[in-house]
Amino acid sequence: MASSFDVAVVGAGLGAFHAAEELAKSKNTKVAFIYGYTFQEWVMAAAIFLNNPDEHQKWTCGVPEKWKQKWPNVQYFLSSVESIDCDKKEIKLMNKGPDAGAVISYKAVILATGSKSPLLTPAPGMSLTERVAEVRACGQALKSAKTVVFNGSGLVGVEMCGDFRIQNGYGAKVILLSRSGKVLDSDFGDKAHTPDAGVVTKVTNILKDKFQVDVKQGSVSDPKFSDPILSPGTLKLDDGSTLDFDVYIPCYPLGPNTSSLVSSKSDLLDPRGALVTNECLQSTAHPEVFGVGITTIKLFGHPVSSRITAASQHCARQAAAVIEGKQPQVFKDKGAPPPMSHPMNVKIGHGPGGYMIWTSLPGPAKVCCCQCCNGGYPCCPPPCCWCCIPGCSGACGTCGSPPEGEGPAKLMIHLLAKFPPAHGFKGLGDYGAEVPTQAKMT
Ligand SMILES: Cc1cc2nc3c(=O)[nH]c(=O)nc-3n(C[C@H](O)[C@H](O)[C@H](O)COP(=O)(O)OP(=O)(O)OC[C@H]3O[C@@H](n4cnc5c(N)ncnc54)[C@H](O)[C@@H]3O)c2cc1C
Repeated sequence: MASSFDVAVVGAGLGAFHAAEELAKSKNTKVAFIYGYTFQEWVMAAAIFLNNPDEHQKWTCGVPEKWKQKWPNVQYFLSSVESIDCDKKEIKLMNKGPDAGAVISYKAVILATGSKSPLLTPAPGMSLTERVAEVRACGQALKSAKTVVFNGSGLVGVEMCGDFRIQNGYGAKVILLSRSGKVLDSDFGDKAHTPDAGVVTKVTNILKDKFQVDVKQGSVSDPKFSDPILSPGTLKLDDGSTLDFDVYIPCYPLGPNTSSLVSSKSDLLDPRGALVTNECLQSTAHPEVFGVGITTIKLFGHPVSSRITAASQHCARQAAAVIEGKQPQVFKDKGAPPPMSHPMNVKIGHGPGGYMIWTSLPGPAKVCCCQCCNGGYPCCPPPCCWCCIPGCSGACGTCGSPPEGEGPAKLMIHLLAKFPPAHGFKGLGDYGAEVPTQAKMT
């Protein structure tokens, strides 16, 4: 028999957290938070721990008592969703994990399931033991590879190249495959809202010259290459040419995680699997279904995490409105910081041996980080940059030089650890009892 809830939130990322957090404020709303895993993992550190599995535990918490929030009106479910029947307004969970086979009925549902990104995020239903094994297999394969192909030259592909070199040295050949032959197309290149050819050229040159990465033009449409391959093989490119590899990792999102949605209406999803919504981020086929980051209405601007946060809070408020019989509001992104055309930075790896470029910062941070005058360590304006956190000196580059280099990359690894708590990720650094002792890293 189904347990009944007012709103169900589905997902395990920062989007789902902020939706549940918003709903937790109205104590009379009964919320099912279908988290789907027994552990939390901080996705933004994926390039670090996939290249060095010893780092994985630092970004993971396997103790639900540590990471679960204590919201009286929110009930967590730690088994993943198998199907969401939009006609019946009923969710069935997978037959695996602590809440195996549970059935949940809802008045409204918020889907914050992100995009399919094999290896970068754990597959729905994965246990922590399985995830640790996957991360270790990836790290091991990368360490012994002679040729590595990262497919997708966006921010994630660029990070993977940098972290690969930091963790595994310069012995292997690294190929970064790009449809256009350029890097960062959608953030700074021709497909960007405000293209910045300077950043494209700069990052391409740093990758080629400093990180010895072969940026190669080519696309791959064969679906068998949409999953990572951790053993030797041959990639078939669309132009008929081939590329031998020891490890192949797609570094682009493969489409929204919406395959669990079931409906009698054929217009629920578009051909790519995105939830067809109006400007309220509300499904046009099923008005009680809302989507965060998986909809046909695209979220514009950077930082992406702030856009997702704003959309999640909006969807939570609209879901509550709909079940009260009110009209939902159009989504207006009032997140902080406000949407910026470009990412704040480009990370070519994290920590010593990496390279980071500050590309755009909001006003006060810009002054503090000396972007206006090409300042930087040791002449940063006090008290901004005087070693408030480890790695801070040199965080904006060195005085008189552009705000980039190894200093910012060293800062970023510390800065990255500051973000998870703000997005509901707690207790990172503890696998807990689920992972056998011999599988734990030192
Ligand atoms: C390597 C990397 C670095 C990044 N760096 C930055 C950065 O510096 N700044 C920034 O702003 N953004 C960054 N991003 C982007 C940012 O991480 C995403 O925008 C953000 O995580 C999206 O949040 P989300 O909750 O919508 O989706 P996700 O974080 O993808 O979370 C969705 C979760 O839901 C789970 N899920 C899927 N299907 C189901 C199901 N059926 N049942 C239950 N759960 C399910 C997924 O497995 C996943 O864990 C980075 C991303 C990556 C991969």
